[in-house]
Amino acid sequence: MTHATPAPETKSLNFLEEIMEADLQSGKHSGRICTRFPPEPNGYLHIGHAKSICINFGLAKKYGGGTNLRFDDTNPAKEDLEYVDSIREDVHWLGFEWTGEYYASDYFQLLYDYAEYLIQQGKAYVCDLSDEATKEYRGNFYQPGKESPYRQRSAAENLDLFRRMRAGEFADGAKVLRAKIDVQSPNMNLRDPLMYRIRRASHHRTGDAWLIYPMYDYAHGISDAIEGITHSICTLEFEDHKPLYDWFLEQDVDARFFQRPLPHQYEFARLNLTYTVMSKRRLLQLVQEKHVQGWDDPRMPTLCGLRRRGFTPEAIRAFAEKVGVAKRDMVADVGLLEHCIREDLEQRAPRTMAVLHPLKLVITNLAEDEVHWLELPNHGERPELGSRKVALTRELWIEQDDFREEAPKKWFRLAPGAEVRLKSACLVRCQEVVKDAAGQVVELHCTWDPQSLGGNAPDGRKVKGTLHWLSATHALQAEVRLYDRLFTTEDPMNVPAGGDWRDALNPHALEILVAARVDPGLAAAVPGTRLQFERLGYFCVDLDSKPDALVFNRTTGLKDSWAKIEAKG
Ligand code: ATP
Ligand code: MG
Repeated sequence: MTHATPAPETKSLNFLEEIMEADLQSGKHSGRICTRFPPEPNGYLHIGHAKSICINFGLAKKYGGGTNLRFDDTNPAKEDLEYVDSIREDVHWLGFEWTGEYYASDYFQLLYDYAEYLIQQGKAYVCDLSDEATKEYRGNFYQPGKESPYRQRSAAENLDLFRRMRAGEFADGAKVLRAKIDVQSPNMNLRDPLMYRIRRASHHRTGDAWLIYPMYDYAHGISDAIEGITHSICTLEFEDHKPLYDWFLEQDVDARFFQRPLPHQYEFARLNLTYTVMSKRRLLQLVQEKHVQGWDDPRMPTLCGLRRRGFTPEAIRAFAEKVGVAKRDMVADVGLLEHCIREDLEQRAPRTMAVLHPLKLVITNLAEDEVHWLELPNHGERPELGSRKVALTRELWIEQDDFREEAPKKWFRLAPGAEVRLKSACLVRCQEVVKDAAGQVVELHCTWDPQSLGGNAPDGRKVKGTLHWLSATHALQAEVRLYDRLFTTEDPMNVPAGGDWRDALNPHALEILVAARVDPGLAAAVPGTRLQFERLGYFCVDLDSKPDALVFNRTTGLKDSWAKIEAKG
């Protein structure tokens, strides 16, 4: 007898894994791997950041290394402690532990000292050109730049001016410190980039200690080097900044400032998602202009928004995994994200029933005080999730949508004279339709077949339609918030001429139902509890929910368009 050998794991490595494995093999960093996630605390994290978090933490974990959380707080005007706290919370929630927590502002002194060192080496100079003039001198993609008239200042003069910049002798914007590289370089980033600007702004950590602040490009690589980061992974728009990243570090010719080997920058494609926008600046606008109720509005692509909507960290990590690591820009289908949360909740969310648009159904041959207690499993495939008791009584709620007075062909739900199954309970037949003066259907009078208790026809007769329902005497009233996509177009930033990206905001992205009904077992459900309302979708208890004023958010419906796409291959 022969045994088939199992196929080896054939999942191919992504390009970052290839690089890390090669570095580990060559012993480049003595077998060490250290990555960092470097958010600027100027907004809440979004699903794009989640991608970066999963890559940085995921790779380090895979190769036995660590990941630092570094707040890139070099721009005091836009940064805030509220954002720092939210970022810490979101990274934790996603399921990651950082090795060290650092702030670029911790390095302000060292950055300053290194700047003086560069000045002394003749590698940096103080420039008095206005913003506008600097731009003009810098040229453009087709034209080489011109040297600033201040480029030839002596090291001594530059040092004196730089110290006076720091001391507050000059107005904001009057002078900057620039790296002396190459104004003719085909790479615009190398045309004597700014290193420092004067800005009288209070910093959320350093207060008023500094009047000059380093630029991102200067501070970033140096922060990496100080922390001993081995692989500095960022998004593609920084590809053209890489020579600058390297240049700043390489000027430390006698290795006085940074340990070796120096870190290296690698770029991957930024994640975009259909039907939403993903820049903190735009998300902030949506919040400030009150198009949404806050950063954690469940319509937002922020991590706190997705969390409030009912997403799990597992689903977001699975999404990041499925999207993969690419070298070319891409737009992920929001359907894939919805697919991931559905797959996860399918497994973990207990089932229960709720009625969003209630219509009264009276079982006329059931006595008013008659109660049949049914014991229903919370999850058909997971007995460990337990069961719940559900009351079948004379007065019930069903969904308005589940009744048609004039039933079209192939209508298996309720209609005059028709018989349906009340899920897991019994069979009922509609005998009479009660209307109000305006002709609105207000009540259905039905009879039940007592033999069908449990939901099956005693004689095996075919009953195709199955409806969800609740006991009207037991159900609780609740508010249900139905969420849809934030924008009506796949790419809201692709604005037709004369239009604005906000024109595509979806006015129906939030629908609030104030008179929905839910199972009484949910009376004490705490915010964050996730459930499947049978036939309706996945829901979670909102932060606003209180025992006497329950609020549920729809996370996503049950229909999975992506599963079909995936099945087709
Ligand atoms: P935004 O444009 O949304 O403000 P950002 O790049 O300015 O984003 P940072 O706080 O600087 O935000 O980002 C922290 C890290 O997250 C960076 O390494 C950045 O490359 C990464 N990142 C930001 N947005 C995305 C995205 N859409 N996809 C993947 N990574 C991202
Ligand atoms: Mg940024």
